[in-house]
Amino acid sequence: MTQRVGIIGWPLTTTFSPAMHNAAFKALGMDWVYDKMAIPSDIVRLGILEPQRHGYVGLNVTIPHKEEAMRHVMPDDLARAVGAVNTIDLRTMTGTNTDVGGFITDLTVNGVELAGKRVLVLGAGGAARAAVVGLTQAGASVVVVNRSLERARTMVANLSLSNLTLKADALTLDEAVESGSIDLIVNSTPAGMFPNVDESPWVLGVPFPQGVTVYDMIYRPAQTGLMRQAEDNGGRGIGGLGMLVYQGAAAFKLWTGVEPPIEVMFAAARQELQSQ
Ligand code: NAP
Repeated sequence: MTQRVGIIGWPLTTTFSPAMHNAAFKALGMDWVYDKMAIPSDIVRLGILEPQRHGYVGLNVTIPHKEEAMRHVMPDDLARAVGAVNTIDLRTMTGTNTDVGGFITDLTVNGVELAGKRVLVLGAGGAARAAVVGLTQAGASVVVVNRSLERARTMVANLSLSNLTLKADALTLDEAVESGSIDLIVNSTPAGMFPNVDESPWVLGVPFPQGVTVYDMIYRPAQTGLMRQAEDNGGRGIGGLGMLVYQGAAAFKLWTGVEPPIEVMFAAARQELQSQ
């Protein structure tokens, strides 16, 4: 019998997940299908329960339902720490967050060391929370900078209530740059994303650190202005496509118990990117 998984979100116009997962199922000869289900915000509960009733194995959850999904499944410790669920196992009605692992795996694959490093995280939304949790678990200390500083302060305060031993602070960009050397900058904002490629999360006039690595969670365009800025200053830029692929690969493993074909998933994601 065909096994089914899928993704819920709204409006869900551009998601690479069906292409990545269906390519992986095909490559492994598995009788599985990954569906796309556009679910508006007032029926998230139904959007989870109906697929379960129809025998679906699992779901990915994307914008804007990751926080709301926490209320309808049993979140694990990781999802609780982030405050968001992006992967559900409908057989057990449990939820986890594979964005954290996706992000850290891609940094590791790219040879970026994290233990003992000082990391600047730009943004204070869901992606930034996942980054701070992953970086903290990996032994880094984190400075959070956000357009609205108050939101960054609230995020750090809330994360401090989780069972993480958090080494994190919320500062202005000026303060963050002046208060110590930075090893890694993570962009968890949409500033610089297609079509607003000229936007930057880096405040004009603040000196850019020399020789620093930028991890930009944006994957469209493949090279953002912030990544270029790092390279122009003797550093390195890494785009967010790997995070997308590895978070999907972790969900694939959780649902199927089968090792995901990473290269197949990368190829499908790159193909989607090119066809946009
Ligand atoms: P979100 O919850 O809406 O948070 C967005 C954050 O970015 C907020 O802190 C916001 O600041 C800030 N921001 C928005 N526009 C900005 C601008 N023009 N300049 C400076 N800061 C700005 O979004 P999210 O879910 O965290 O996602 C953030 C980004 O990460 C998106 O680009 C998303 O595509 C990307 N992402 C990538 C992956 C991946 O797999 N590669 C996974 C998850 C997310 P305020 O608080 O001041 O509004």
